Amino acid sequence: MMENACDAACRDIDALLECAIDQLELDPLDVDYARNQLMELLDIRQFSPSGALDGTGEMDVSSALVALVGDALEAGLVAEDDVASFADRVLNVLSPSPALVTAYFEQIEREDSSIDAMNWLYDLCAANGSVHRKQLETNPHFESHGLVVTINTAKPEFKNMKKAAAGNAGAGGYPQCVICHENEGFAGAGGAGKRTLRTIPVELGGRDWFWQFSPYGYFYQHGICVNAQHTPMKVDKETMGNLLDFVDRFPGYFIGCNAALARIGGSILAHDHYQGGGQLLPMHTARVLRAYRVDGYEDVTLEVLDWPGSAVRVVSRLRSEVLEVSELLRAAWAVYENDAFHIHPYDESGARQSSLSPSVIVTDRGYEMSLIFRNNAVSDEYPDGIFHAHPQYYPVKQEPIGLIEAQGLFILPGRLVGQLAVLEEALVRGDDAVPEEIAEFAPQWEELVETLEERDRDTVRAAIREELGSVCYRILENTSVFPTKEDLANFVGSVEGIELEKL
Ligand SMILES: [Zn+2]
Repeated sequence: MMENACDAACRDIDALLECAIDQLELDPLDVDYARNQLMELLDIRQFSPSGALDGTGEMDVSSALVALVGDALEAGLVAEDDVASFADRVLNVLSPSPALVTAYFEQIEREDSSIDAMNWLYDLCAANGSVHRKQLETNPHFESHGLVVTINTAKPEFKNMKKAAAGNAGAGGYPQCVICHENEGFAGAGGAGKRTLRTIPVELGGRDWFWQFSPYGYFYQHGICVNAQHTPMKVDKETMGNLLDFVDRFPGYFIGCNAALARIGGSILAHDHYQGGGQLLPMHTARVLRAYRVDGYEDVTLEVLDWPGSAVRVVSRLRSEVLEVSELLRAAWAVYENDAFHIHPYDESGARQSSLSPSVIVTDRGYEMSLIFRNNAVSDEYPDGIFHAHPQYYPVKQEPIGLIEAQGLFILPGRLVGQLAVLEEALVRGDDAVPEEIAEFAPQWEELVETLEERDRDTVRAAIREELGSVCYRILENTSVFPTKEDLANFVGSVEGIELEKL
């Protein structure tokens, strides 16, 4: 680096070290060590210090980083398309090691609480760039029809499951997949890697798992709990026991498991993992249509939910009872057959196609285990799945409806921002037909035109949100395996070992 440029870079390194002491737990004992590594990354031989570092800088890490990246670009040390990877390397130097992160986490958990520890980890991951919190805050986000609708402008859209699976396979077999523990610190092939990823160990069912926050952040403190072994997804009694273990340690969090089947579950089926977070989803507080006591159980309430999908809730203060009743329902659903409803537990090749998504929270009432019944059957009319979003809604959402959406938080593709802007303009202009470039939105256009009495911008914008919420609600109705709540209640009442008494 040239001498003048060096002076600027030295100042920027100091500013960044200052922020790292404050926001990334950089230990003062590690400051010289970290500075030397940053100097090497920036090809600086001589350092001219800008003053004492006391960790009281006003800047945040990301702004300080922008200055340093600018220095590297100017000096020709980094190409434009390597900026993300360079920033990742810098932040990794400044972030505590995984062992240190775990030690801090466990100390906060011991001295304060497990949720304080999660808050600390989340802030750390947002500061070191492994969680894109700013992105989460800028994503369009609103409530409609009892659902939360967000448009995710960061994550690529996966329209087909084969592509999704390919996108999730590790190249060359190491790591075996994108959520394997070996990703911690992994540079990957180009771009921003996972150098700054930090996980913490969690024991579930006596086995090793780990927790990490999701980089895309679908909602506040969204993360995944991952089996330390690369082993396939499954949903059984052990799964539900593991979920209970998780909320025993992290009350205030929800944790759930996707139905372990393609198209109605998560995109990563090869590696067992759960999804959770520090925010309740709409279904967790859904109204109860009918409540029952279960005969022979000391403290179980079984609730049929007022929810567009087919979902029930098992509530109990007793862990063993919530687990037993949930398992009875799971096992009965796995083999339930009903021709009239097109529910068949196995497909033509004999593969299982019924599964369920359990999700648990702890409240004043005890454990609340929600069970969403899912099925993957196809028909001539719906070759992509009877209980999947139907084709007329594909312009809004074609991706599989996984656990998060099934519980009422919709993550819509980023392309909608542009498409809805075109829709809005055309409506405000008073066009009499849907613009050609978004012709696939014709059904939504029809519905909007029918309801809109005024076409000023505010009214149009509100109507478009209403329409989106309504489409999301109808997509959840598509996923409902039982035509009515009466049918759902009848199924629950027919399960062997469950005698219902109406409350
Ligand atoms: Zn894996």
